[in-house]
Amino acid sequence: MPLKTHKIALDPNNKQRTWFAQQCGYARFAYNHALADFKSALANGEFLSASKLNERFNVAKQAFAWTKTQDQVVANRSIFVNLSAAIGNWVSKRARFPKFKKRGKKDAWTTNNQSVQVEGKRIKLPKIGWVKMFQSLRWTGKLMKVTISRTAHRWFVSITVDTEDTEAVDNSTHPVVGIDVGINTLATCSDGSKYDNPRPLKRYERKLTRAQRRLSKRVKGSQNWISQKRKVARIHYRIACIRNDAHHKATTAIVNKVSAIGIETLKVTNMLKNKKLAKAVSDTALGGFLSKLKTKAETLGIPVTEASQFYASSKTCSSCGHKKKNLTLSERTYHCSQCDVSIDRDVNAAINLRNVAVGHTETENACGVQVRPHAEARETEARKAVWKQQLLPI
Ligand SMILES: [Zn+2]
Repeated sequence: MPLKTHKIALDPNNKQRTWFAQQCGYARFAYNHALADFKSALANGEFLSASKLNERFNVAKQAFAWTKTQDQVVANRSIFVNLSAAIGNWVSKRARFPKFKKRGKKDAWTTNNQSVQVEGKRIKLPKIGWVKMFQSLRWTGKLMKVTISRTAHRWFVSITVDTEDTEAVDNSTHPVVGIDVGINTLATCSDGSKYDNPRPLKRYERKLTRAQRRLSKRVKGSQNWISQKRKVARIHYRIACIRNDAHHKATTAIVNKVSAIGIETLKVTNMLKNKKLAKAVSDTALGGFLSKLKTKAETLGIPVTEASQFYASSKTCSSCGHKKKNLTLSERTYHCSQCDVSIDRDVNAAINLRNVAVGHTETENACGVQVRPHAEARETEARKAVWKQQLLPI
């Protein structure tokens, strides 16, 4: 059965907030303690296994009376799952040697304590009891683990469920849709519908700069510095929320009305090279938008075709296939000199991407690798033949 995770914002009271922060501290304490233990043993030529580290931590923690009141599963997982994975990655040379965890960075703790229960819009956590959630759990099934984490001022729970729930719906009567993504409009569909781009960074830029400047003038580590740092984090969080909200609304609306999708392959690194555009490109986070779209399409069983990265979806005429040599970003309307068609620039690109998805202009070989499209090759041959005829002496 597949595991699915739902991340839900929590609405804890003050006592619960304090408890959450304490558990983050306990997870960090266990991790750092065991890592220090591992390091010192390694210096003496001894390699300690995760179970050995856990065993030694269980003895060492007796010296700290406060650890008795904590959720022991949290410390256990911190060593057995997190530290063990970090050491494993280092051993197999996938990562550097694990670092000690710092307070306030990626604060989180995980438990799979048997006492966890979910009921409507609340969750029962070990030792602290029922905590309010802003949403109810999307999946039904066996609870596998819960992770509590903090982003800026907000606490979240990620609930992993072993579920058989499927979201598959009959979309066979829906059309194939091409989607052009961009800075001015987040997404333009080949059916003409458009989804706006909120560009939150642009809106919050001044506020963020001011807050960051104020932070730089505070004494690092002081109470004022900590509270200002929280303010900066809240602005970043606000920006991310606005962006994600727009992405989720658009992607959900799109996957609910299509049977297949055609998109372009983004060259974000290329786009970032243009200094005038770089900020706007990162602000829209187009890569994040497309990955959300792909994930949602996948859960619904909707095929997604990505055009080859050399496919000129903007420069090609969707009506006759003529390809323009130059097309500036300021040209909002595509005008074809061959067939005299005038069409919105983004819709033109979206229609081209739809055609890619339908398979008109591009095909895939057995390995799924984009190959030179047969249709275009045939067209080129035909054009060459015409040229030859014209060049023949009369
Ligand atoms: Zn044309």
